[in-house]
Amino acid sequence: MQAVILDGFGAPLALREIPDPVAGPGEVVIRVKACGVCHSDLHLADGDWDLLKRITKLPLVLGHEVTGVVESAGPDSGFAPGDRVGVPWLHWTCGMCEYCTTGRETLCGEQKITGVTVDGGFAEFVKAPASHTARIPDGISLEDAAPLFCAGLTVYKALKSSGIESGQTLAVFGVGGLGHLAVQIAKARGVRVAALDIAEDKLALARECGADLTVDLRTGQARKALRPLGGAHVAIVCSGAKAAYESALTCLRKGGTLVVVGMPAEPISVSAVTLVAGEYRIIASAVGTREDLRELLDLAAAGGIRCRVETAPLSEAGAALERMRNGAITGRVVLTPLVS
Ligand SMILES: [Zn+2]
Ligand SMILES: [Zn+2]
Repeated sequence: MQAVILDGFGAPLALREIPDPVAGPGEVVIRVKACGVCHSDLHLADGDWDLLKRITKLPLVLGHEVTGVVESAGPDSGFAPGDRVGVPWLHWTCGMCEYCTTGRETLCGEQKITGVTVDGGFAEFVKAPASHTARIPDGISLEDAAPLFCAGLTVYKALKSSGIESGQTLAVFGVGGLGHLAVQIAKARGVRVAALDIAEDKLALARECGADLTVDLRTGQARKALRPLGGAHVAIVCSGAKAAYESALTCLRKGGTLVVVGMPAEPISVSAVTLVAGEYRIIASAVGTREDLRELLDLAAAGGIRCRVETAPLSEAGAALERMRNGAITGRVVLTPLVS
């Protein structure tokens, strides 16, 4: 099969032929129809994150927002050829540790990660354990579903963890792949949404997604803009810019919650005095569980959310990463292998 291979950190991606995967017991091989390009793919390719660098398989097929149809199903998989399915970041978890048995499998220490520790979906086929392969409901296309498997899932679970409720106010910092989905998920839940970014086209996208208020962060007026609403109950930072975190804290109402999702390279710092005075909470969230994914796919299939996607052939994977590096993507690029 054709696959996009990362041979080493910082090396250009190479499209070449590798052997087709074969499904063993409890596994499926999926004919990839779409695979989203995530910021994590860029950081992985560049070797930016030491934490992941240590566990990355090389050479590697990147891609962890994979959707397609089952090509072949191994014994005891419970799937049949033709089933519409997808594979998330969380490729496999042990099912037995303290985290797996308490609904927190994202923290499993034994986890395998799609497109990091095992080959991912920048390819014509991908192999996955049936236990962590999700069925995709009718009513959502495979291209539209792909970005939900990381970008959508990440913000869905982050908002769930924040405890935000209908009628409350959410501030979304950074309206990229994650942010524009956060706006839609929150609106579908009856939350009032303010979206903040430094690019006018991203603010326009936020308005299309239903944001009640958009704020250009370049004006330095974020706090003032949120004041008539009494400040945000929850601020979620989807941007990788450190400045977004500093701004987000100032936009919270007292007792509010800052949700850490975007990852700047440098540490974020906050004043303990500010935290104590406002009794703020800071929580962090990573991807989501299989249960979160099912809920999100159902929400999307019901028409609640739709990712802004543009498709590109596998051969343009490297170009897509380059555009991402330059902040030149609005929404999500989805690679669509042309399988005969
Ligand atoms: Zn991702
Ligand atoms: Zn576990």
